[in-house]
Amino acid sequence: MAFTNTAVGLDSGTINGDWRGAAVCKDEDPDLMYPLPAIGPGELWLIREYCFACQVRLRCLQDGVEVSDWESIRGGLTGRERAKHYRAGLEPHEFPLPVKPTCAVCFRVTWLPLRKGRCGSCRVTEQRAAKREQVAS
Ligand code: SF4
Ligand SMILES: [Zn+2]
Repeated sequence: MAFTNTAVGLDSGTINGDWRGAAVCKDEDPDLMYPLPAIGPGELWLIREYCFACQVRLRCLQDGVEVSDWESIRGGLTGRERAKHYRAGLEPHEFPLPVKPTCAVCFRVTWLPLRKGRCGSCRVTEQRAAKREQVAS
């Protein structure tokens, strides 16, 4: 999955004390941030975007490091993603955000693997056009 450093949402990261009281997820079922491994990529993105809109996102990421929580989704990142960035020596405020996989040609979001940056339907269109050119030459 591609990542970017672009900040999304209302990150202040400076809220201390009862930061959980300012969390977007404060009234949600805690299981929301512990999705089953079989969760689909689209569903995962809904949770990510939920976190991206949270004003205590950075504080939540910091807390995840402090309590060594490498399982739940925090700040829009899965536990595995956060652990990887942490092991690479990044501070929570440097953890890059995932980018929605988008086709470089039609700009549609796709959950299927992109090849050479292209979605399946654009690849087929390009292959057909190449074949037509071959036949015509
Ligand atoms: S970043 Fe996500 S998990 Fe963390 S407090 Fe905000 S909504 Fe909850
Ligand atoms: Zn496409």
